[in-house]
Order: sequence, then structure tokens, then C-alpha cells
Amino acid sequence: MTNAFFPTEKLLLGPGPSNVSPRVLAALGMPPLGHLDPDFIELMEEVKVLLRQVFGTQNEVTFPVSGTGSAGMEFTLVNWIEPGDRVLVAINGVFGTRLANLADRLGAQTTRLEFPWGDVIDKNQLAQKAEDIKPKIICVVNGETSTGVYQPMDGLAEIAHDNGALLLADCVTSLGGMPVNLDAWGVDLAYSGTQKCLSCPPGLAPVSVSPRAVEVFHQRKTPVPSFYLDLGEILKYVGTGQKRAYHHTAPVNMIFGLHAALCEVMEEGIPARIERHRQAAARLITKVLPLGFEPVVKAENRLYPLTTLRLPEGADEAALRVRLLHEHRVEVGGGLGPFAGTVWRCGLMGVNATIRNADTLASCIADVL
Ligand code: PLP
Repeated sequence: MTNAFFPTEKLLLGPGPSNVSPRVLAALGMPPLGHLDPDFIELMEEVKVLLRQVFGTQNEVTFPVSGTGSAGMEFTLVNWIEPGDRVLVAINGVFGTRLANLADRLGAQTTRLEFPWGDVIDKNQLAQKAEDIKPKIICVVNGETSTGVYQPMDGLAEIAHDNGALLLADCVTSLGGMPVNLDAWGVDLAYSGTQKCLSCPPGLAPVSVSPRAVEVFHQRKTPVPSFYLDLGEILKYVGTGQKRAYHHTAPVNMIFGLHAALCEVMEEGIPARIERHRQAAARLITKVLPLGFEPVVKAENRLYPLTTLRLPEGADEAALRVRLLHEHRVEVGGGLGPFAGTVWRCGLMGVNATIRNADTLASCIADVL
């Protein structure tokens, strides 16, 4: 006999997952339904409507891909890249790098346009490169969780569309915590994850596909090299106006949880939710400045849900993080790439984006310093 696992609850203030509300937890624990059960199909339809609202889009093809954010990333590339296609990726952190590596794996001719970590991307350079190479897809990360930068999206669709490209945006850490308006931005391919500002556990990747991208998908000459993520196959299950057919078993309880989480987002209202994230991040910065911490990102470029903080000179960041976890049950994330060893990634995401949590984190940090 083995013992059941009951984890000690911790305050998850790192780059994700974040904590979830009691309502979401209760929804996850409901008795499962069959994935073709009419009640479940109705729920899935509601989830699609709610996702369109949070993504700011009318895109018919908007649904949760089974899998974490990386499954969403892979979905938006595997269905649109054929070997030899040119893909332009703006890189200013880990997730742009991952997009480019995935494009390589799919046989794309990938162009990496690199920008300093902690900065936004330079639109003029992006426009110049797009003109030079005429890519099929331009990829940008809207919320770079490795650096805490929120990428402004205005003008990017013009660059893409004027050069015959689709615009792809990673919205994993922006959806539900920062402005995301796919239609106003002209984004063609977007993906997110449930475990950040939506405050649902990891396991689903909401995606949205513009009509233009659907058209490009139908022009493929080669089969999609993934069965699980093939849009054509998945549409037989999640598409509307046709009889649902089995493709893979939808993770039904995760969909229950996502539905509850999206209801909470809409009940609060997106502008109020963004403002709550803004205030929590601002409070954290105000509270840790006197402790010798410095925000890495300029005020105007900050991703409210994820604040990168440079530690005071000489601080042993790994040892302090371990103490936060062991002594206070508070999790924060370490820095990545050039920020490793000197920077923390502090997430105040979804239900965790409160003044109270900002204060708690600051006082726990003061205690371990
Ligand atoms: N993109 C961004 C911006 C992320 O922050 C993450 C995860 O942290 C991912 C993609 C990948 O998501 P996941 O780890 O859920 O697969």
C-alpha cells in the first residue's frame, strides 16, 4: 500500500504555475463526463466563446489544445510550416529561442533576429528583415517570461501582412493579465497556457487561428507531421457545424477547470484584472527597492504578471530562493540565460496578483536577506 499524496500548499510566486481559486479546484474534482457527451460538448462550446472574449477575437478557430503552453507553440508551427518555408523569429529571451528551435526541427529556413534580453524588439529592424527574406511566418513573444518584457504589438501585423507573412504571438504569460487583442493587433496565430494569469493548473494551451491562417493551412502540400496536433484532424472534434468525431480523448476535467477559470476572468472583467496585475507588480517593486533589489525592465516595457528583479550585489540567489521555499513556503523563479545567478523572476499572476501577496513576498524576502 502506498500513501496518497497531499502536497503542502505553497504560495506560487514564480514564473508559473500560479495558485488556483477554490472554484477552479472544485471544478477539476467533478465527476468526469464522456468527451462526446452532449453536456460536455456544450461546455466545450462555452469555453470556445469565453476564450474568444479573453483573446479579443472573433476567430472561429479558437479552442484549448490538449497539453501545456509548449503544445500550443508546437500547434501553431507544425500546422503552418512545411520543409523549406522561411520563418522569421524575433528573439529577446528563452521563448523566442524555443520558437526558432522548433521551426528548425520542422525543416524551416529559420532567421533569428536577436535583441538584448530585457528590451522590446525593434520594429524597424523587424520590418527590414521581413522585406529582405519574405517569410511565411513572423514570430514574436508578447509576454517574455524569461525577462519580464511585454512586447507592444502595434505595427507588427502591417510588417507581416505587407510582406505576405502570418503574424504569430506567444501570449502564454499575457493572456488574462495584460492587454491581448488579437483582432485589433492583426495576429493570425496565437497560443497561451492555462497555468499563468488564467489561474488554472498546467495542462491546456488555448489557441486562436485567424481566417487568413486557416486559408494558408488548407494550401499545405504535405501532410502535417503530427497526428495529435493536426488542425484538420482536431477540427473534426472541436469544429462547429458538424457531427463530432473522436480524434483524441479531451482532458475533460481540465476543461471543467478552464471553464471555471474563464468565468472568473469574465466576472472580474478584463480591464479590472489587468489593473489588478499592474497594481500588484508596482507594489512589489516599491516594497523591494529599499531592500536593494532593482527592476530589470524599464517601467514602460514591464509585463505586470512577471517582474524580474536584480538581487543586491553579492546575494546568493539560489540559497535565498531555497530559504524562501523552505522557511516561508513561497516559490519564486531564478533567472535564465544572462540573468542566471543575479535575477529573480517573481510572478503575481491570476488570483495571486494582489497587494497582499506583493507585501507577503517583500516581507519574506526581507526575512531571508
Ligand atoms: N511561452 C512562454 C512565454 C512561457 O512562459 C512558457 C512557459 O513558461 C511557454 C511558452 C511554455 O509553456 P509550458 O511550460 O506550459 O509548456
